[in-house]
Parts: sequence; C-alpha cells; structure tokens
Amino acid sequence: MSSDLALFRGAPGMERAREIIERMGQEQIPTSPANYEIWTTHVAGVKPDLSREIEARLRRGEPFTDETNEELFERFFANTRLSIQMLETSETIARELDDTVSRLRGAGGQAGSYAKVLQSAAERFEGGVDSTEFRAVVEHLAVTTHEMAAHNLKLAEQIEASTLQVQELQTALQSVKVEALTDGLTGLANRRMFDETLHRRITDASADNSDLCLLMLDIDQFRRLNDLWGHALGDQVLRYIASVLRAHAQGDVLAVRFGGEEFAMIMPRTNLHLAEALAARVSKAVKSKRLSLKSTGDVIGEITISAGVARFRAGEGADNLAARAEACVRAAKVSGRDRIVTDVQLDRQSAA
Ligand code: GH3
Ligand code: MG
Ligand code: MG
Repeated sequence: MSSDLALFRGAPGMERAREIIERMGQEQIPTSPANYEIWTTHVAGVKPDLSREIEARLRRGEPFTDETNEELFERFFANTRLSIQMLETSETIARELDDTVSRLRGAGGQAGSYAKVLQSAAERFEGGVDSTEFRAVVEHLAVTTHEMAAHNLKLAEQIEASTLQVQELQTALQSVKVEALTDGLTGLANRRMFDETLHRRITDASADNSDLCLLMLDIDQFRRLNDLWGHALGDQVLRYIASVLRAHAQGDVLAVRFGGEEFAMIMPRTNLHLAEALAARVSKAVKSKRLSLKSTGDVIGEITISAGVARFRAGEGADNLAARAEACVRAAKVSGRDRIVTDVQLDRQSAA
C-alpha cells in the first residue's frame, strides 16, 4: 500500500490531488466526498477493477451521471468503512497544506478566508468525526488548497495561526487513524492494523530475505471463565493478557488482539528459535499471575494459553502464513492445551 500512497507525497502529490479535481471537473462530476474518494482511488490505481470500469466508460464516451456515480460507490466502496487509504491520503494532504502555508509565507492577500477554512476544519475534528464528515472536510481542504495555489493567493499576518491550525489538523488526523487501528478493550493493535502490518513485513522480509515469524495464541477454556465468573471478569483477563503481550513486544514486534480471545505477535527479523522462546516467555508470564475477583477476593486460578509459531516462507501470502500459525494453535489445543507448537513440529507430525 505504501507504494500507492507515494503517489500523494511531496509536491507531485499535491499536483495529483489537483489533477483529480480537474479530471472530475472535465467529466462534470460533482465534487462530493463519495465522488472524490472514487476518483482518488482511481488515480492511485489501488482498485484495478474500479479503474478498468472508469476507463471503459471514458473510452465509450459515457457520461458520469448521478446514477453512475452512485452505482460506482455502491459497488466499490459501500462496505468499506473509513479506509486506511483515505486516512493516509488525507494525512498527506494535511502535510501538503503545511508546505503550502510555508511556501506562501510572508505574502498578503486572501489569507483571512484560507485561515478560516483551516479554522473550521480544525473545529470539525473536535469531539470526533464520522467517516462521511471526515471525507467532506478533506475534500473541502483539497479544493481550497487547489484554489489557493491556482490563484497564487498570499498569506500574511495569519500565517502563524494558520500553521498552528494545520498542526492541530494533523494531530486530529493522527488520532482518528490511531482510533481506527486500535482495539477498544485492550488498546492493542486491531485486526486491520494486523493485516496492514503483516503485508508490509512480508514485503520487507521478501526484499531483504530476512526472517519473519508470526505467533498466534488463544486463551484456554476462556468460555468457562466467562460462564463461571462473568463477562466483566472475562474482559479483565483479556486486558491482562494484552498487558503481558505489550510488555513482551519490544522493538519492531507488534502485539495484536486478533479477535475475541485470540491474540497475535508479528515478529520481524526474528528466527523461529527466538520466536518460540518469546512465546514461551509470554506463556510463562501469563500463567505466573494468580488472578482474583476484585469484589469477593475469589481466586480465579491459573490462566493458560495455546500458541502457534510459524516462520514466513518465501513466496507465501499473509493469509497462508496466518493460516499456518492458526493450524499450529489448533494442534496445540488438540494435544492438550497450555503449549506451543511450531510449524516445523506440525510438518514433522503430519509427515510421520
Ligand atoms: P479453547 O480452549 O478450545 O480455546 O476453548 P475456549 O472456551 O477458550 O474457546 P471458545 O472459542 O469456545 O470460546 C471463546 C469465548 O470467548 C466465547 C466468547 O464468549 C468469549 N469472548 C470473545 N470475545 C470476548 C470479549 O470481548 N469479552 C469476553 N468477556 N469474552 C469474549
Ligand atoms: Mg478461540
Ligand atoms: Mg480459547
């Protein structure tokens, strides 16, 4: 994904944002947030199906009517919530705004209205935003920046205030992004962050032929804990496991709540031996604590986990690697729980 987003970096990135708006103008497409997302995605080339569809329409000379635009959005975006792509693109646009402000430093002109746009954008980020509103703000900023550059408008005494507002906007974008990629209960990275990071780590490991290991783990008999002591205690245990993972995730290691009572750790530049050792330390740490119920002092007893460790194999995809690690977890369950199974052990088992 990072290579696609490179399209939106630096001065060429801003040029591209302008290009999108211009092309939408040529095709007489209203600059609504949905349409802006369609065309940004098309120009970024990240949805080949969408691009093929748009190009075919252009070739046939078919107009982009409101129905067409709605249909495209329905087909290609309806189920995506605020996409990471959009967030990152928006961050880039915010960075470019910063550059634009610097470039126009010292000049006079329509500084007032530009500063107002920034001000209102910053205000709209206060107290959280939903994705539609977020897109609307970003689109508005992109259009305004375009107008600013096109007319070579100049900024004067508001420059310092504007710079501050751009910084606030960047902070707001960052926090929206953090929220989208974090699990609410435990504060660990969520599944979306997992998917994105694992893809990136696989690309890195393939490029420099380095080690990459994936640890997946599942709490043993967790349903019984919930049934015996209640859901709130279950949640407390999930937070406890998360804290253990976090304490063991050093350097580039990413600790993730994969879903429910399943967790993962992505370990770049880590060989299978080291990954297995880390899994053993996590397992031991989880077991070492005697949890008790706050309200009554009842002792919950030992919590154990079943873990699987798989080492990335050249050429395989993220789904395959994750599936192999999950198969190791299942093998750990079947053979009695409270243990760690590696992909090498699993292969040996199935060969025997
Ligand atoms: P096993 O040892 O085979 O993994 O058994 P298990 O009971 O841990 O596994 P199972 O998949 O049967 O049960 C998982 C339970 O996790 C069921 C579900 O209610 C519970 N769970 C999932 N997410 C949450 C959550 O956010 N909070 C709480 N308290 N429980 C959750
Ligand atoms: Mg499970
Ligand atoms: Mg379980």
